Amino acid sequence: MVDRYQRVLRDLRISVTDRCNFRCRYCMPQEVFGPGFQFLERAELLSFEEIARLASVSAGLGVRKLRLTGGEPLLRRDLDRLIAMLASIEGIDDIALTTNGSLLAARAESLVAAGLSRVTVSLDALDDATFAQMNGVGASVDRVLAGIDAAAAAGLAPVKVNMVVKRGVNDDAVLDMASYFRERGHVLRFIEYMDVGNTNQWHTDEVVSAADLRSLIGARWPLEPLAPLYPGEVARRWRYADGSGEVGFIASVTEPFCGGCTRARVSADGQLYTCLFGAHGHDLRSLLRDGSDDSAVSSALARIWGLREDRYSELRAAASVAGPKVEMSYIGG
Ligand code: SAM
Ligand code: SF4
Ligand code: SF4
Repeated sequence: MVDRYQRVLRDLRISVTDRCNFRCRYCMPQEVFGPGFQFLERAELLSFEEIARLASVSAGLGVRKLRLTGGEPLLRRDLDRLIAMLASIEGIDDIALTTNGSLLAARAESLVAAGLSRVTVSLDALDDATFAQMNGVGASVDRVLAGIDAAAAAGLAPVKVNMVVKRGVNDDAVLDMASYFRERGHVLRFIEYMDVGNTNQWHTDEVVSAADLRSLIGARWPLEPLAPLYPGEVARRWRYADGSGEVGFIASVTEPFCGGCTRARVSADGQLYTCLFGAHGHDLRSLLRDGSDDSAVSSALARIWGLREDRYSELRAAASVAGPKVEMSYIGG
């Protein structure tokens, strides 16, 4: 099954909640996502059974990898139960989780026991003052590091660590982060600050390009490029020449990778988005709830994917896109 640019559907990212215990300025700024913000009601969220059904139908269409995200996915109660349900689906060979890590330490073992294959933990600095500026709620670095340690101890090493770099806020934390995770064998990935959603007041001046980050790190610890592990890999991988592991760069702004984009996203209320920067989703929840059988859900998915022609990041580079977009906390990263 391919879209209009011959891209297959391989990965499904499932948001399990639009809520979060952080208020990262680049994702859910407090002044917008404050006490008056209307989050989804419980009845609007897809149930675990509905998510598993959607995943199973998607697997029938070629999806092999699932990623649970949000909002903060560990805020969804009993996430282990969902993971166990997903792990039993034929065709799914990889279940990953993206989390801010604050609730991971106590949960890592049971998530792995349920069938979690990989975890990505987001962390933007190693000092509490800078991290608090990024996460908006004063969350401590130690809690996240404890989550990373627990995940590694539970069998998920090496852990991937995502760092969004914002000029003038945490760009001075880059070398400390690289040093810390190199020594521990985890894979740090630098994410260019993106213009997702409409609320983060994004400006190109705040983006630190992957090329600049590579030079900064390479000047301290020489780097050598690595070949992608599979076609369409989002992060460009580089290894430390001294053999101390690798780093990744996710350069959505300066080196767009739409050409190999095999990802679809489902919001917590069952809207399918074929691009992270989509303006609207396709309502799958109605289909899941109106008595339609699996083949009807499968046909709808196939039709939506077949019509897909998203390549926002490539067009952004050509400065030809404008208008409202979906929020990251709603569909996940
Ligand atoms: N709450 C979880 C977390 O933070 O890992 C999962 C959801 S979060 C939306 C997924 C990823 O998106 C995180 O790694 C986060 O840093 C990244 N992200 C959010 N807003 C971003 C932005 N404006 N630019 C680049 N990355 C962003
Ligand atoms: Fe929450 Fe993750 Fe968004 Fe930060 S990036 S506000 S942790 S959803
Ligand atoms: Fe995929 Fe859209 Fe990102 Fe391009 S901009 S890589 S199409 S999600």
